[in-house]
Amino acid sequence: MNKRVCVLGAGSIGVSTALHLQLRGWDVTLVDAKPPASETSYGNAGVISSGSIVPLNNPDMLKSLPAYMSNLHPAVRYKVPYLLRQFSWMKSFFSEAREKQAISNADDLNQLIDAAGDAHKYFMWLAGNADRYTETGWLKVYRKDRPNHELSFERRALARNNKDVTVLTIPELRDLEPGLSPIFVGGMWIKGNGFIDNPSALIREYADYFVSIGGEFKQQEIRSIEPQERGYKIQLDQQVIDTDSVVVALGPWSNQILTPLGYKLPLATERGYHIHFNLAEGSSLYHSVHDVDGAYVMTPMEQGLRVTSGVELNDRDAASNYAQLEELKPKVAEAISLDGETEAAPWRGARPSFPDGKPIIGPASKHQNLWFAFGHGHIGLNTGPITGKLLAQAMNGDATDISLDGFSSDRF
Ligand SMILES: Cc1cc2nc3c(=O)[nH]c(=O)nc-3n(C[C@H](O)[C@H](O)[C@H](O)COP(=O)(O)OP(=O)(O)OC[C@H]3O[C@@H](n4cnc5c(N)ncnc54)[C@H](O)[C@@H]3O)c2cc1C
Repeated sequence: MNKRVCVLGAGSIGVSTALHLQLRGWDVTLVDAKPPASETSYGNAGVISSGSIVPLNNPDMLKSLPAYMSNLHPAVRYKVPYLLRQFSWMKSFFSEAREKQAISNADDLNQLIDAAGDAHKYFMWLAGNADRYTETGWLKVYRKDRPNHELSFERRALARNNKDVTVLTIPELRDLEPGLSPIFVGGMWIKGNGFIDNPSALIREYADYFVSIGGEFKQQEIRSIEPQERGYKIQLDQQVIDTDSVVVALGPWSNQILTPLGYKLPLATERGYHIHFNLAEGSSLYHSVHDVDGAYVMTPMEQGLRVTSGVELNDRDAASNYAQLEELKPKVAEAISLDGETEAAPWRGARPSFPDGKPIIGPASKHQNLWFAFGHGHIGLNTGPITGKLLAQAMNGDATDISLDGFSSDRF
Protein backbone atom coordinates (compact mmCIF):
# COMPACT_ATOMS: atom_id res chain seq x y z
CA MET A 1 0.00 0.00 0.00
CA ASN A 2 1.18 3.53 -0.75
CA LYS A 3 2.16 5.75 2.16
CA ARG A 4 -0.70 8.05 3.14
CA VAL A 5 0.06 11.72 3.61
CA CYS A 6 -2.13 14.67 4.33
CA VAL A 7 -0.83 18.03 3.08
CA LEU A 8 -2.41 20.91 4.99
CA GLY A 9 -2.74 24.12 2.99
CA ALA A 10 -3.11 24.50 -0.78
CA GLY A 11 -1.08 27.61 -1.47
CA SER A 12 2.03 27.61 -3.63
CA ILE A 13 3.89 25.50 -1.06
CA GLY A 14 1.19 22.92 -0.23
CA VAL A 15 0.14 22.32 -3.85
CA SER A 16 3.77 21.91 -4.93
CA THR A 17 4.55 19.50 -2.10
CA ALA A 18 1.39 17.49 -2.74
CA LEU A 19 2.23 17.21 -6.45
CA HIS A 20 5.81 16.08 -5.83
CA LEU A 21 4.65 13.45 -3.34
CA GLN A 22 1.94 12.23 -5.72
CA LEU A 23 4.55 11.94 -8.50
CA ARG A 24 6.61 9.78 -6.13
CA GLY A 25 3.71 7.38 -5.58
CA TRP A 26 2.42 8.58 -2.22
CA ASP A 27 -1.32 8.50 -1.48
CA VAL A 28 -1.86 12.25 -1.07
CA THR A 29 -4.79 14.22 0.34
CA LEU A 30 -4.44 17.98 0.03
CA VAL A 31 -6.71 20.06 2.28
CA ASP A 32 -7.62 23.72 2.29
CA ALA A 33 -10.63 25.67 3.45
CA LYS A 34 -10.65 27.48 0.10
CA PRO A 35 -9.85 26.60 -3.53
CA PRO A 36 -6.09 26.32 -4.18
CA ALA A 37 -4.09 29.57 -4.15
CA SER A 38 -6.86 31.73 -2.73
CA GLU A 39 -4.78 33.44 -0.03
CA THR A 40 -1.17 34.68 -0.02
CA SER A 41 -0.41 32.76 -3.19
CA TYR A 42 -3.24 34.61 -4.92
CA GLY A 43 -2.09 38.18 -4.70
CA ASN A 44 1.70 38.31 -4.96
CA ALA A 45 3.74 40.21 -7.52
CA GLY A 46 4.38 37.12 -9.66
CA VAL A 47 8.16 37.48 -9.56
CA ILE A 48 10.17 34.28 -9.83
CA SER A 49 13.55 35.93 -10.22
CA SER A 50 16.86 34.17 -9.73
CA GLY A 51 17.98 37.37 -7.99
CA SER A 52 15.53 37.21 -5.06
CA ILE A 53 18.22 36.07 -2.66
CA VAL A 54 18.75 39.23 -0.63
CA PRO A 55 16.94 39.20 2.70
CA LEU A 56 15.24 42.50 3.63
CA ASN A 57 17.21 42.59 6.85
CA ASN A 58 20.77 43.28 5.81
CA PRO A 59 23.38 45.90 6.75
CA ASP A 60 21.93 48.43 4.26
CA MET A 61 18.48 48.13 5.85
CA LEU A 62 20.03 49.10 9.18
CA LYS A 63 21.19 52.34 7.52
CA SER A 64 17.59 53.05 6.41
CA LEU A 65 16.18 52.51 9.90
CA PRO A 66 15.93 56.21 10.82
CA ALA A 67 13.76 56.76 7.72
CA TYR A 68 11.61 53.71 8.49
CA MET A 69 11.09 54.75 12.11
CA SER A 70 9.01 57.74 11.00
CA ASN A 71 6.33 55.17 10.07
CA LEU A 72 5.70 57.23 6.95
CA HIS A 73 8.10 55.45 4.59
CA PRO A 74 6.31 53.69 1.71
CA ALA A 75 8.51 50.59 2.02
CA VAL A 76 7.71 49.73 5.64
CA ARG A 77 4.82 50.56 7.93
CA TYR A 78 4.19 49.11 11.36
CA LYS A 79 1.78 49.00 14.27
CA VAL A 80 3.59 49.56 17.53
CA PRO A 81 1.50 47.10 19.62
CA TYR A 82 2.24 44.40 17.02
CA LEU A 83 5.98 45.08 17.18
CA LEU A 84 5.86 44.92 20.98
CA ARG A 85 4.10 41.55 20.81
CA GLN A 86 6.73 40.39 18.29
CA PHE A 87 9.62 41.73 20.37
CA SER A 88 11.77 38.58 20.17
CA TRP A 89 11.12 38.27 16.39
CA MET A 90 12.23 41.89 15.97
CA LYS A 91 15.34 41.28 18.07
CA SER A 92 16.32 38.33 15.92
CA PHE A 93 15.37 40.22 12.74
CA PHE A 94 17.87 42.96 13.59
CA SER A 95 20.49 40.49 14.71
CA GLU A 96 20.17 38.66 11.35
CA ALA A 97 20.74 41.96 9.53
CA ARG A 98 24.43 41.93 10.48
CA GLU A 99 26.86 41.35 7.60
CA LYS A 100 27.91 37.81 8.46
CA GLN A 101 24.40 36.52 9.17
CA ALA A 102 22.87 38.31 6.17
CA ILE A 103 25.50 36.90 3.80
CA SER A 104 24.98 33.39 5.14
CA ASN A 105 21.17 33.77 4.74
CA ALA A 106 21.59 35.08 1.18
CA ASP A 107 23.86 32.13 0.34
CA ASP A 108 21.29 29.65 1.72
CA LEU A 109 18.49 31.38 -0.18
CA ASN A 110 20.60 31.28 -3.31
CA GLN A 111 20.75 27.49 -3.17
CA LEU A 112 16.97 27.36 -3.10
CA ILE A 113 16.43 30.08 -5.70
CA ASP A 114 19.05 28.72 -8.10
CA ALA A 115 16.94 25.61 -8.56
CA ALA A 116 13.55 27.32 -8.29
CA GLY A 117 13.10 28.34 -11.94
CA ASP A 118 13.73 24.85 -13.30
CA ALA A 119 11.40 23.38 -10.68
CA HIS A 120 8.63 25.69 -11.96
CA LYS A 121 9.43 24.87 -15.59
CA TYR A 122 9.04 21.17 -14.83
CA PHE A 123 5.58 21.78 -13.30
CA MET A 124 4.61 24.05 -16.22
CA TRP A 125 5.62 21.31 -18.61
CA LEU A 126 3.45 18.81 -16.71
CA ALA A 127 0.50 21.18 -16.33
CA GLY A 128 0.83 22.63 -19.85
CA ASN A 129 0.82 26.25 -18.66
CA ALA A 130 4.27 27.54 -19.66
CA ASP A 131 2.55 30.40 -21.50
CA ARG A 132 1.95 32.03 -18.10
CA TYR A 133 5.67 32.62 -17.72
CA THR A 134 7.76 35.40 -19.30
CA GLU A 135 11.53 35.02 -19.00
CA THR A 136 12.68 38.63 -19.00
CA GLY A 137 14.52 38.69 -15.68
CA TRP A 138 13.84 41.25 -12.93
CA LEU A 139 14.19 44.96 -13.39
CA LYS A 140 14.94 47.45 -10.61
CA VAL A 141 14.68 51.13 -11.48
CA TYR A 142 15.90 54.15 -9.57
CA ARG A 143 14.64 57.73 -9.31
CA LYS A 144 17.83 58.92 -7.59
CA ASP A 145 21.49 58.28 -8.39
CA ARG A 146 23.13 55.56 -6.35
CA PRO A 147 26.76 56.45 -5.85
CA ASN A 148 28.95 53.45 -4.93
CA HIS A 149 26.00 51.14 -5.55
CA GLU A 150 28.41 48.34 -6.41
CA LEU A 151 29.37 48.34 -2.71
CA SER A 152 25.77 47.84 -1.54
CA PHE A 153 24.90 44.61 0.25
CA GLU A 154 22.53 43.63 -2.55
CA ARG A 155 25.15 44.03 -5.28
CA ARG A 156 27.76 42.18 -3.24
CA ALA A 157 25.39 39.31 -2.43
CA LEU A 158 24.35 39.04 -6.09
CA ALA A 159 27.98 39.12 -7.24
CA ARG A 160 29.21 36.47 -4.83
CA ASN A 161 26.37 34.20 -5.99
CA ASN A 162 27.27 34.76 -9.66
CA LYS A 163 24.06 36.48 -10.71
CA ASP A 164 23.98 37.92 -14.20
CA VAL A 165 23.51 41.63 -13.44
CA THR A 166 23.61 44.56 -15.87
CA VAL A 167 23.65 48.11 -14.59
CA LEU A 168 21.54 50.16 -16.98
CA THR A 169 22.12 53.66 -18.25
CA ILE A 170 19.10 55.80 -19.07
CA PRO A 171 19.17 54.93 -22.83
CA GLU A 172 19.56 51.22 -22.05
CA LEU A 173 16.63 51.36 -19.64
CA ARG A 174 14.57 53.18 -22.27
CA ASP A 175 15.38 50.49 -24.83
CA LEU A 176 14.23 47.77 -22.45
CA GLU A 177 11.13 49.57 -21.19
CA PRO A 178 10.08 52.37 -23.56
CA GLY A 179 6.78 52.73 -21.67
CA LEU A 180 8.46 53.97 -18.48
CA SER A 181 8.49 57.73 -18.05
CA PRO A 182 11.84 59.57 -18.05
CA ILE A 183 11.84 60.10 -14.26
CA PHE A 184 14.17 57.14 -13.82
CA VAL A 185 17.91 57.82 -13.80
CA GLY A 186 19.00 54.21 -14.22
CA GLY A 187 18.33 50.64 -13.34
CA MET A 188 19.64 47.18 -12.62
CA TRP A 189 18.63 44.19 -14.69
CA ILE A 190 19.03 40.81 -13.00
CA LYS A 191 18.75 38.21 -15.70
CA GLY A 192 17.51 34.70 -14.97
CA ASN A 193 13.84 33.70 -14.79
CA GLY A 194 11.05 36.28 -14.90
CA PHE A 195 7.41 36.63 -13.93
CA ILE A 196 4.02 34.94 -14.03
CA ASP A 197 0.91 36.53 -15.57
CA ASN A 198 -1.48 35.12 -12.95
CA PRO A 199 0.06 33.42 -9.90
CA SER A 200 -3.20 32.03 -8.57
CA ALA A 201 -4.17 30.49 -11.93
CA LEU A 202 -0.68 28.98 -12.26
CA ILE A 203 -0.94 27.22 -8.88
CA ARG A 204 -4.55 26.14 -9.52
CA GLU A 205 -3.43 24.55 -12.78
CA TYR A 206 -0.67 22.71 -10.87
CA ALA A 207 -3.41 21.57 -8.43
CA ASP A 208 -5.63 20.43 -11.32
CA TYR A 209 -2.73 18.36 -12.64
CA PHE A 210 -2.22 16.87 -9.15
CA VAL A 211 -5.89 15.77 -9.14
CA SER A 212 -5.64 14.46 -12.73
CA ILE A 213 -2.90 12.01 -11.68
CA GLY A 214 -4.90 10.66 -8.73
CA GLY A 215 -4.31 13.18 -5.93
CA GLU A 216 -7.27 14.11 -3.77
CA PHE A 217 -8.22 17.70 -2.87
CA LYS A 218 -10.63 18.32 0.01
CA GLN A 219 -12.03 21.79 0.53
CA GLN A 220 -12.63 21.86 4.29
CA GLU A 221 -11.53 23.79 7.35
CA ILE A 222 -8.76 22.04 9.28
CA ARG A 223 -9.41 22.00 13.04
CA SER A 224 -6.48 20.04 14.51
CA ILE A 225 -3.71 17.49 14.08
CA GLU A 226 -4.05 14.67 16.61
CA PRO A 227 -1.03 12.35 17.00
CA GLN A 228 -1.98 8.66 17.37
CA GLU A 229 0.11 5.67 18.39
CA ARG A 230 0.84 5.29 14.68
CA GLY A 231 0.19 8.24 12.41
CA TYR A 232 -2.25 11.09 12.87
CA LYS A 233 -5.91 11.99 12.84
CA ILE A 234 -6.64 15.23 11.02
CA GLN A 235 -9.81 16.78 12.33
CA LEU A 236 -11.65 18.62 9.55
CA ASP A 237 -14.95 20.43 9.95
CA GLN A 238 -16.90 17.61 8.26
CA GLN A 239 -14.79 14.49 8.75
CA VAL A 240 -11.67 12.97 10.27
CA ILE A 241 -8.79 11.76 8.09
CA ASP A 242 -6.41 9.00 9.23
CA THR A 243 -2.95 9.41 7.80
CA ASP A 244 0.61 8.17 8.25
CA SER A 245 2.33 11.51 7.63
CA VAL A 246 1.38 15.17 7.72
CA VAL A 247 2.85 18.19 5.95
CA VAL A 248 2.02 21.59 7.44
CA ALA A 249 2.01 24.17 4.63
CA LEU A 250 -0.45 26.65 6.07
CA GLY A 251 1.60 29.75 5.30
CA PRO A 252 0.80 32.53 7.80
CA TRP A 253 -1.67 30.22 9.60
CA SER A 254 0.90 27.49 10.34
CA ASN A 255 1.57 28.38 13.97
CA GLN A 256 -2.11 28.26 14.83
CA ILE A 257 -2.34 24.51 14.13
CA LEU A 258 1.07 23.75 15.67
CA THR A 259 0.79 25.55 19.01
CA PRO A 260 -1.37 22.79 20.57
CA LEU A 261 1.37 20.28 19.60
CA GLY A 262 3.98 22.24 21.58
CA TYR A 263 5.67 24.21 18.77
CA LYS A 264 6.35 27.90 19.15
CA LEU A 265 8.12 29.15 16.03
CA PRO A 266 8.94 32.84 15.43
CA LEU A 267 6.63 33.41 12.45
CA ALA A 268 5.60 37.02 11.85
CA THR A 269 3.35 38.52 9.18
CA GLU A 270 4.62 41.10 6.73
CA ARG A 271 1.36 42.20 5.21
CA GLY A 272 1.08 43.61 1.72
CA TYR A 273 -1.55 44.88 -0.74
CA HIS A 274 -2.18 44.88 -4.44
CA ILE A 275 -4.25 46.83 -6.88
CA HIS A 276 -4.67 46.52 -10.67
CA PHE A 277 -4.60 49.31 -13.24
CA ASN A 278 -5.35 49.42 -16.95
CA LEU A 279 -2.43 50.68 -18.97
CA ALA A 280 -3.23 53.68 -21.15
CA GLU A 281 -3.47 53.05 -24.87
CA GLY A 282 0.01 52.80 -26.39
CA SER A 283 1.66 52.22 -22.98
CA SER A 284 3.58 49.00 -22.30
CA LEU A 285 5.55 47.05 -19.69
CA TYR A 286 7.61 43.95 -20.54
CA HIS A 287 9.25 43.15 -17.18
CA SER A 288 8.24 42.92 -13.58
CA VAL A 289 9.64 46.23 -12.35
CA HIS A 290 10.64 47.25 -8.84
CA ASP A 291 10.51 51.03 -8.48
CA VAL A 292 12.98 51.03 -5.60
CA ASP A 293 12.52 54.65 -4.51
CA GLY A 294 8.76 54.44 -5.06
CA ALA A 295 8.73 51.23 -2.94
CA TYR A 296 6.38 49.13 -5.05
CA VAL A 297 6.56 46.39 -7.66
CA MET A 298 4.51 46.45 -10.88
CA THR A 299 3.94 43.40 -13.04
CA PRO A 300 1.90 43.07 -16.24
CA MET A 301 -0.78 40.47 -15.49
CA GLU A 302 -3.98 39.06 -16.93
CA GLN A 303 -6.00 41.26 -14.60
CA GLY A 304 -4.09 44.42 -15.62
CA LEU A 305 -0.96 46.06 -14.28
CA ARG A 306 -0.61 44.61 -10.77
CA VAL A 307 1.02 46.95 -8.28
CA THR A 308 2.07 45.45 -4.95
CA SER A 309 2.95 47.44 -1.86
CA GLY A 310 5.86 47.25 0.56
CA VAL A 311 5.63 45.73 4.03
CA GLU A 312 3.12 46.42 6.76
CA LEU A 313 4.08 44.80 10.06
CA ASN A 314 0.75 44.08 11.69
CA ASP A 315 -1.45 41.19 12.87
CA ARG A 316 -2.46 38.89 10.03
CA ASP A 317 -6.17 39.56 10.45
CA ALA A 318 -6.20 43.21 11.57
CA ALA A 319 -8.36 45.53 9.47
CA SER A 320 -6.79 46.74 6.22
CA ASN A 321 -5.06 50.08 6.15
CA TYR A 322 -4.89 51.32 2.57
CA ALA A 323 -2.76 54.39 3.36
CA GLN A 324 0.46 52.82 1.99
CA LEU A 325 -1.30 51.79 -1.20
CA GLU A 326 -3.02 55.16 -1.66
CA GLU A 327 0.36 56.89 -1.40
CA LEU A 328 1.75 54.62 -4.13
CA LYS A 329 -0.89 55.51 -6.69
CA PRO A 330 0.53 58.91 -7.73
CA LYS A 331 4.01 57.37 -7.88
CA VAL A 332 2.81 54.66 -10.24
CA ALA A 333 1.07 57.30 -12.35
CA GLU A 334 4.37 59.20 -12.54
CA ALA A 335 6.16 56.05 -13.73
CA ILE A 336 3.82 54.81 -16.45
CA SER A 337 0.68 55.96 -18.28
CA LEU A 338 -2.43 54.49 -16.69
CA ASP A 339 -6.09 54.34 -17.57
CA GLY A 340 -7.87 53.76 -14.25
CA GLU A 341 -8.11 50.92 -11.75
CA THR A 342 -9.72 47.63 -12.74
CA GLU A 343 -11.19 46.55 -9.38
CA ALA A 344 -13.30 48.19 -6.71
CA ALA A 345 -11.24 47.06 -3.70
CA PRO A 346 -7.54 46.29 -3.16
CA TRP A 347 -6.34 42.84 -2.12
CA ARG A 348 -4.49 42.19 1.14
CA GLY A 349 -2.24 39.28 2.11
CA ALA A 350 0.37 38.38 4.71
CA ARG A 351 3.88 37.16 3.91
CA PRO A 352 4.68 34.43 6.46
CA SER A 353 8.18 35.38 7.64
CA PHE A 354 10.88 34.05 9.90
CA PRO A 355 13.43 36.57 11.20
CA ASP A 356 16.27 35.24 9.03
CA GLY A 357 14.21 35.53 5.82
CA LYS A 358 14.38 31.76 5.21
CA PRO A 359 11.54 29.21 5.31
CA ILE A 360 11.44 26.01 7.33
CA ILE A 361 11.61 22.96 5.08
CA GLY A 362 12.04 19.63 6.82
CA PRO A 363 10.95 17.38 9.68
CA ALA A 364 9.27 18.59 12.87
CA SER A 365 11.53 18.29 15.90
CA LYS A 366 9.07 16.64 18.33
CA HIS A 367 6.97 14.29 16.20
CA GLN A 368 7.81 11.57 13.70
CA ASN A 369 6.36 11.83 10.20
CA LEU A 370 5.27 15.43 10.77
CA TRP A 371 6.86 17.79 8.24
CA PHE A 372 7.05 21.55 7.92
CA ALA A 373 7.07 23.73 4.78
CA PHE A 374 6.20 27.31 5.64
CA GLY A 375 7.61 30.77 6.30
CA HIS A 376 8.53 31.59 2.70
CA GLY A 377 8.16 35.33 3.25
CA HIS A 378 8.74 37.29 0.04
CA ILE A 379 9.66 34.30 -2.15
CA GLY A 380 6.97 31.66 -1.71
CA LEU A 381 5.65 31.81 -5.26
CA ASN A 382 9.18 31.50 -6.60
CA THR A 383 10.23 28.67 -4.30
CA GLY A 384 7.01 26.59 -4.13
CA PRO A 385 7.97 23.82 -6.58
CA ILE A 386 11.57 23.54 -5.34
CA THR A 387 10.34 23.38 -1.73
CA GLY A 388 7.93 20.62 -2.72
CA LYS A 389 10.68 18.71 -4.48
CA LEU A 390 13.13 18.93 -1.59
CA LEU A 391 10.56 18.01 1.03
CA ALA A 392 9.29 15.06 -1.03
CA GLN A 393 12.87 13.85 -1.44
CA ALA A 394 13.45 14.07 2.33
CA MET A 395 10.14 12.35 3.15
CA ASN A 396 10.93 9.58 0.69
CA GLY A 397 14.29 9.01 2.36
CA ASP A 398 16.12 10.12 -0.81
CA ALA A 399 19.15 12.39 -0.97
CA THR A 400 17.95 15.99 -1.28
CA ASP A 401 19.26 18.12 -4.18
CA ILE A 402 20.59 20.65 -1.67
CA SER A 403 21.24 20.41 2.04
CA LEU A 404 18.21 21.31 4.16
CA ASP A 405 20.36 22.18 7.20
CA GLY A 406 19.93 25.94 6.70
CA PHE A 407 16.15 25.50 6.56
CA SER A 408 15.73 23.29 9.62
CA SER A 409 13.28 24.23 12.41
CA ASP A 410 16.11 23.47 14.87
CA ARG A 411 17.63 26.88 14.12
CA PHE A 412 14.94 28.48 16.34
C1 LIG B 1 2.13 41.79 -1.59
C2 LIG B 1 2.89 40.49 -1.76
C3 LIG B 1 3.75 40.34 -2.86
C4 LIG B 1 4.48 39.17 -3.01
N1 LIG B 1 5.25 39.00 -4.13
C5 LIG B 1 5.91 37.82 -4.33
C6 LIG B 1 6.61 37.58 -5.53
O1 LIG B 1 6.62 38.42 -6.44
N2 LIG B 1 7.27 36.41 -5.68
C7 LIG B 1 7.25 35.46 -4.69
O2 LIG B 1 7.89 34.42 -4.87
N3 LIG B 1 6.54 35.63 -3.57
C8 LIG B 1 5.87 36.78 -3.36
N4 LIG B 1 5.13 36.97 -2.22
C9 LIG B 1 5.16 35.93 -1.21
C10 LIG B 1 4.30 34.73 -1.56
O3 LIG B 1 3.04 35.14 -2.03
C11 LIG B 1 4.15 33.85 -0.31
O4 LIG B 1 5.42 33.55 0.23
C12 LIG B 1 3.47 32.53 -0.68
O5 LIG B 1 2.24 32.77 -1.33
C13 LIG B 1 3.23 31.69 0.57
O6 LIG B 1 2.58 30.52 0.14
P1 LIG B 1 2.03 29.48 1.17
O7 LIG B 1 1.55 28.31 0.40
O8 LIG B 1 3.03 29.26 2.25
O9 LIG B 1 0.82 30.26 1.91
P2 LIG B 1 -0.67 30.53 1.38
O10 LIG B 1 -0.70 30.79 -0.06
O11 LIG B 1 -1.26 31.55 2.29
O12 LIG B 1 -1.38 29.15 1.63
C14 LIG B 1 -1.80 28.73 2.92
C15 LIG B 1 -3.15 28.08 2.76
O13 LIG B 1 -3.57 27.54 4.03
C16 LIG B 1 -4.97 27.61 4.07
N5 LIG B 1 -5.41 27.52 5.47
C17 LIG B 1 -4.93 28.22 6.51
N6 LIG B 1 -5.53 27.81 7.67
C18 LIG B 1 -6.39 26.84 7.31
C19 LIG B 1 -7.31 26.00 8.05
N7 LIG B 1 -7.44 26.08 9.37
N8 LIG B 1 -8.04 25.10 7.37
C20 LIG B 1 -7.91 24.98 6.03
N9 LIG B 1 -7.07 25.72 5.29
C21 LIG B 1 -6.33 26.64 5.91
C22 LIG B 1 -5.29 28.96 3.43
O14 LIG B 1 -6.63 28.97 2.94
C23 LIG B 1 -4.24 29.06 2.34
O15 LIG B 1 -4.74 28.64 1.08
C24 LIG B 1 4.38 38.13 -2.03
C25 LIG B 1 3.50 38.28 -0.97
C26 LIG B 1 2.75 39.45 -0.83
C27 LIG B 1 1.79 39.57 0.33
